[in-house]
Amino acid sequence: MSVCPKCGRPARGLCLDCFLESNPLVLGDVKLVSCGCGRLRYRDKWDAPLQDVVRDVVKSFKHPFEIRIKKVDVKPEIRDGKLSLQVTADGSYKDSIFRKSFTEQFKLQSTSCPTCSRKNSGYYEAVLQMRCEIPKFVVDENQIAKAEKVRGGFDYYLLSNNYARALTSQLSRKGYDIKTSTKTYSMRDGQTVYRIYYSIKKDSA
Ligand SMILES: [Zn+2]
Ligand SMILES: [Zn+2]
Repeated sequence: MSVCPKCGRPARGLCLDCFLESNPLVLGDVKLVSCGCGRLRYRDKWDAPLQDVVRDVVKSFKHPFEIRIKKVDVKPEIRDGKLSLQVTADGSYKDSIFRKSFTEQFKLQSTSCPTCSRKNSGYYEAVLQMRCEIPKFVVDENQIAKAEKVRGGFDYYLLSNNYARALTSQLSRKGYDIKTSTKTYSMRDGQTVYRIYYSIKKDSA
């Protein structure tokens, strides 16, 4: 009976365990970027699903040629600022099949997402000047650059005018009086950019 030259267990040549010890299954590097707000960027795409990472990891799975891989299963998880991938590989080595599980961790690179960097730079496109009791509506946290209590009401500085427009048309339907004014604030790519101010009052009628 032949034995593994390394550990002495019955095997033809190196046994699977000894073989894998010197020829480990490895994953290619994964570069995943995260923002403090929890958003993730993968391959230059914000809010990319972790499934994209899984797809690439499976595609680029490296293994020694002596081994055949039938199936690779990858479970991703974000924990403590790291991407943890739990990998289960089914394959065969010589005449026997095997299943190997291991976990690899990748440190997340950190950066600010476009929304957060706009917030941090003081960028805003529209201001809601609420001059009435604050109506029971929710301004999306992610859209607020700044919120300020002022005489007679509240000012919301919003990152996106599209969002401000949607919100004010809702308010208008609920009977609020909306007055719009614009102020030029910069040129961008040869185009004039405006900031839109929405003065909001409760219709007295
Ligand atoms: Zn061995
Ligand atoms: Zn962010």
